[in-house]
Amino acid sequence: MLLRHTPKEIKERSALTINPAKTCQPIGAMYAALGVHKCLPHSHGSQGCCAYHRSALTRHYKEPVMAGTSSFTEGASVFGGQANLLEAINNIFTIYNPDVIAVHTTCLSETIGDDLNQIISKAKEEGKVPAGKYVIKANTPSYVGSHVTGFANMVKGIVDAFPVNTGKRTNTINIIPGYVEPSDMAEIKRIAAELGVKAIVFPDTSNVLNGPQTGKYEMYPSGGAKIADLIKAGDSAATIALGPIASGPAAKALDAKCKVPCEILNLPIGIRATDEFVDRLRILGGVCVPESIATERGQVIDVITDNQQYFAGKTAALIGDPDQLVSLAGFLTDIGIKVRHVVTGTAGKKFEKRVKDVAGGDVNVKEAGDYFYFHQLIKNEKVDIMFGNTYSKYISRDEDIPLIRFGFPIYDRTGHQYIPSAGYRGAMRLVEKILNAILDRQDRDAAEEKFELVM
Ligand code: SF4
Repeated sequence: MLLRHTPKEIKERSALTINPAKTCQPIGAMYAALGVHKCLPHSHGSQGCCAYHRSALTRHYKEPVMAGTSSFTEGASVFGGQANLLEAINNIFTIYNPDVIAVHTTCLSETIGDDLNQIISKAKEEGKVPAGKYVIKANTPSYVGSHVTGFANMVKGIVDAFPVNTGKRTNTINIIPGYVEPSDMAEIKRIAAELGVKAIVFPDTSNVLNGPQTGKYEMYPSGGAKIADLIKAGDSAATIALGPIASGPAAKALDAKCKVPCEILNLPIGIRATDEFVDRLRILGGVCVPESIATERGQVIDVITDNQQYFAGKTAALIGDPDQLVSLAGFLTDIGIKVRHVVTGTAGKKFEKRVKDVAGGDVNVKEAGDYFYFHQLIKNEKVDIMFGNTYSKYISRDEDIPLIRFGFPIYDRTGHQYIPSAGYRGAMRLVEKILNAILDRQDRDAAEEKFELVM
């Protein structure tokens, strides 16, 4: 009973967060940067921030995550970190030879007011950026936003740096996959390829953070969006941005910069959202949906139909990142599960409407909420299953509610790196996980005379 002091009575709080339902902006920025081939993320701040961000990503993906740091000490903290960043850029290109350094700020460098544009320009003037190499940037002050905002900011930084409109439109579709797992990015690419759509997916962490064990350490794995493709993204016919919060700003920036029109969709998690994604790909790509995709869809529908008696009327509580929660809430509603509480730590005024549009008006929804509030909602109305990251396990244990791990970070389970939640295949995986959680609980609690071999 680690959280036994959480009271049932909910009181208004405006200046206090208890157990935040988010991590800090640079983690998302670092994750997005790793989705560019031969890119080394760089944290412009103190070593402690960088160590935390690297360790959070390493523990979630079970892969070594490399990043540079400006290593602020007292001097840089007072007078600014320009000298540190200039030296870091020089050292990184000389020693580690990446094609791109992706610099993000931290609370400290933002508070000082370091101007990344000016420092990067100075590095170029001083010849510290070799020909053909890039330094891109994102401002990621962590006292606002969350890791999702940081991801969105760095993806926009990629758009600011690379795509060029040469005036020769291609029939390629850009896909910005959102803050999802490497496995989901691979699945999104696979669906596009299956439809016969030529796509540029960025960022793309597949084969970066879910690569095979080869016995040999590769500082720059084979995955990641290639610079040549990122430049060509400015000539594409359209952009599909998956997730308005994580991908929307970059898609709009690409439209403004290179006149590539964009469509912003929900993340393709669950049948409804995947249908929407496949349909937009079909229309924008001018292709037909192949039988293979129709079969995948039909198989998930079959499993849902076969097991609908276990889903119908069950209740769920969801906590995590906004784009994921909207699609998940829609999927659960579609299979007959009543979504009761939805809390995200990321701020966003439209979140409540988005959830209620897919899950109905009678849901407790909170943006910029925390685990404490989420726990209070559950204390007031208990549910049958919970969805959330590793930190949700304390509430799950205290309230004796089965937890399905979903979102970021997941430190205490594995598989999310390799097995997608996106697409029809991902929906199948989710259905299996939900069913296992419900039936395991039913078996555990069944009276002897009701303990069934065949459900
Ligand atoms: S919240 Fe700010 S100070 Fe803390 S680790 Fe993140 S960037 Fe660093």
